[in-house]
Amino acid sequence: MTTTSSLPAPAPDFLARETLRLLGPAPDNWVPDHAGIDHNVAIVGGGQSGSAYAFVQVRYATRVVRIEPVAGAAVQHFRLHLQTNAGARIETARKVILANGVAGNGAPFVPAVLSQAVAAGLAAHTADAIDFGALRGKTVAVLGAAASAFDAAAVALEAGAASVHLFARRGHIAATPVSRVRAYPGLYDNYHALPDATRWAQAIRYRRAGSTPPADSVERVLKFPHFHLHLSTTLSTAEVESGHIVTEVQGQTLRFDFAIAGTGYLADPSARPELADIAPHILRWRDRYQPPADARDDELGASPYLGSGLEYLEKTAGATPWLRDIHVHNPAGFASVGLPLGDVPSMRRDIPRSVARISRDLLLADLALHEQRMRGDVPADFGAEFYAGAVWKPAGAALVAA
Ligand SMILES: Cc1cc2nc3c(=O)[nH]c(=O)nc-3n(C[C@H](O)[C@H](O)[C@H](O)COP(=O)(O)OP(=O)(O)OC[C@H]3O[C@@H](n4cnc5c(N)ncnc54)[C@H](O)[C@@H]3O)c2cc1C
Repeated sequence: MTTTSSLPAPAPDFLARETLRLLGPAPDNWVPDHAGIDHNVAIVGGGQSGSAYAFVQVRYATRVVRIEPVAGAAVQHFRLHLQTNAGARIETARKVILANGVAGNGAPFVPAVLSQAVAAGLAAHTADAIDFGALRGKTVAVLGAAASAFDAAAVALEAGAASVHLFARRGHIAATPVSRVRAYPGLYDNYHALPDATRWAQAIRYRRAGSTPPADSVERVLKFPHFHLHLSTTLSTAEVESGHIVTEVQGQTLRFDFAIAGTGYLADPSARPELADIAPHILRWRDRYQPPADARDDELGASPYLGSGLEYLEKTAGATPWLRDIHVHNPAGFASVGLPLGDVPSMRRDIPRSVARISRDLLLADLALHEQRMRGDVPADFGAEFYAGAVWKPAGAALVAA
């Protein structure tokens, strides 16, 4: 007898494949070809976001190093400067989706106090590849108190660090997920339509409350007696002396072998090399909204003010209309959409939204060609002979015919 447990497990992607099968074959590409255009849409980033946008083959080991708008072309497009294992190359695309992760519109943020230590190879950001094995027996400082900081502290401790000191600016560990209060359909679906002041206030509320580490991550470090938590502590000095980082904390001198910055990311497009041509033209929140004095936040103000299709908008009306052909799916869109784009909860709402806009824009950009196509000849499904026998004839006509 076959029992349920002896049945072979379905392939991990069984449901996804079944869903695609039921949807039927992909329709033919409806976007007209244009000379000089390699791609209608190019996606930068092949993580969960990039892969969810398109069920296509990911091109590995290919980095976009510059997105160059091409002025005055018959068909608006970008030159993508690519770095590949086979060397540099340029390809063109009409639409670009930036699904390039947490640092995709900025850079890892490392506090200036660690500059000397970074230069000396004694400090790294959590985004860097850190050799945790080398921290065995070492004294480690971790700056920051959100998920990445706690994870880094835990891995260092589990790798045998002699002690780990974690420095938090707040007097407590952020534990209140304030954005949960707005996780209901009306707000989730329509967040983008909220007034600027409302969205800004929500973004500020989140930033002030802090990003909450999972309780599991905190628990992981609390198991270690040589884990030390410093609350309400911002390191103001970190001198490099004889291969150590030396700092003063509450009147005591502390020495560290290594420091890890779990201090998050800047959402400032001008910090991103591939956006160098574009950054000066992007509308930011600071260009669009002046918050009250008690709600100022320069970092948030530097983040892009996205349109409803997650597209960049132009800072000067009419100057760079091509910006709307770059769609942003990374956490820099937080103030605009109320969620970190790229996190799982953003996928259901925001991927269909920007795909719909891309489809609309590509259709309208080629409207003349589509008009032609729409006016084209259509072969009839059947001819008049198909139903001729059933066509009623008046009795007189029948007699005449007989
Ligand atoms: C520690 C940590 C914990 C997290 N936990 C959660 C969680 O529990 N739930 C949740 O929803 N989210 C979580 N997140 C957020 C997480 O970032 C997203 O869920 C997810 O990884 C985002 O996927 P993505 O595809 O948007 O970005 P990524 O996975 O970061 O992929 C972006 C890709 O773009 C590539 N790329 C960047 N620039 C270029 C370029 N110029 N050219 C070519 N490729 C480029 C990168 O190499 C990368 O492969 C967590 C993040 C971190 C750091």
